[in-house]
Amino acid sequence: MKMFSVSTIIRENIKHLRPYSSARDEFSGRAAVFLDANENSLGNALDNEYNRYPDPHQQLLKKAISRQKNIPAENIFLGNGSDECIDLLYRCFCNPGIDNVVICPPTYGMYEVSADINDVQLRKALLLENFQLDIKAINGLIDDKTKMIWICSPNNPTGNCINVNDIKLLLCNFNGLVVIDEAYIDFAKQASLVNDLDIYPNLIILQTFSKAWGLAALRLGMAFASAEIITVLNKVKPPYNISGTTQKLALEAIGKTDRLKQSMNELAGLRTILQHSLIDTGVVERLYPSDANFLLVKVKDAVKLYDYLLAKGIVVRNRANIILCTECLRITVGTKYENELLIAELINYSKQFL
Ligand SMILES: *Cc1c(COP(=O)(O)O)cnc(C)c1O
Repeated sequence: MKMFSVSTIIRENIKHLRPYSSARDEFSGRAAVFLDANENSLGNALDNEYNRYPDPHQQLLKKAISRQKNIPAENIFLGNGSDECIDLLYRCFCNPGIDNVVICPPTYGMYEVSADINDVQLRKALLLENFQLDIKAINGLIDDKTKMIWICSPNNPTGNCINVNDIKLLLCNFNGLVVIDEAYIDFAKQASLVNDLDIYPNLIILQTFSKAWGLAALRLGMAFASAEIITVLNKVKPPYNISGTTQKLALEAIGKTDRLKQSMNELAGLRTILQHSLIDTGVVERLYPSDANFLLVKVKDAVKLYDYLLAKGIVVRNRANIILCTECLRITVGTKYENELLIAELINYSKQFL
C-alpha cells in the first residue's frame, strides 16, 4: 500500500515560498476608508463599482459553490479558467527538467502544452480501442519522478466517460496526484468524483464554468481537492486571479440552477436528434457515443469535409491528425437552427461527393 503525502511531492521552492500578501489580506475587519491599495479613489468612467480590487479569496463565490456541490469551501480553488488550474498544478508539484507526468491520448491538449511550458517530461499511455484507460501501460510508465496522472472524463475529444473502477485503481495505487478533468461532467450520466475527496488524498478534480454553465467568457475554473492541496495552489496563484466581474456574475448564475438543469435537458435532446440526423446523411462512417455536448464522428475524408464545411461558414473541430482519431471530426451540439444548417450542408456534401 502506498504512502501518499502532499509534503513529499510538493516542490521544495514552493514548500518554502512566502506568498505575496495583498493589502486586503492584511486587514479583515470593517472599514469605511480604504487608502491601502493605491486604487483610484475617484472611481472611473464607468459605474463606480469597478475601482476596488476584488476579494482575492473569492469567499462569497466559494460559499455558493460549496453549497451547490456540497463540499467545504476549504476544498475549493478557483482559477482563471481550468487552464490556470492546470498550469498551477505543474508549477506547484513538478520540478522542471526532473519530474514527469502521464497523460492518456487522445485527450485535451492543454495537459501537454502546460507540461512543455513548465519543462516537465510527458509520458503517454494511449487509450485502448474503446477509449478506456490502459492501466498496464500507465503503470509501466510510472517511476519515482512521476508526479501526476491526467485523466479527462468525459474525455475530450472522444466524448466517453472513463470507467470509475479504473480511476479508483490508480487513486489507490499511485503515489502521486491523479487529476480528473470533469469539464463535461454535467452532461454525463456518470456521477462526479467530488464526493470521494475524503477517501483519496491524492485526488484533484477540475471543473469549469465554460461548458455546461455557458460562461466561457468569464474564465472561471474550479479545482476540488484536499485542504492541504488547495492551500498550496492558493499560495502560488496571482493574488487577484478572478476578476470582480467574474465573481459577481458567477454568483448570480449559481443562483439560477434551474436554468442549468433546463439547458442540460435541452442539449441532451438536441444531441439525440443530431446523432440520428448525422447517421441519416450517410456522411458518417462511425458515430461514437457521447457523454458530453459534442460528438466525435468518423467520415471518409475528414479534411475534405472539414474544408467543405468551412467554405459554407460552419466551423467544426478537425481531429483527423490526432492519434486514434484518424478521419474524425468533433462537432459541438449547437442550437436547433445551427444543427439543421450543419445537417443541410452535410446532405449537400453527400449528394455532391458520395
Ligand atoms: C473546455 C475544456 C476545459 C475548460 O477550460 P477553461 O479554461 O475552464 O475554459 C477544460 N478541460 C477540458 C477537457 C475542456 O474540454
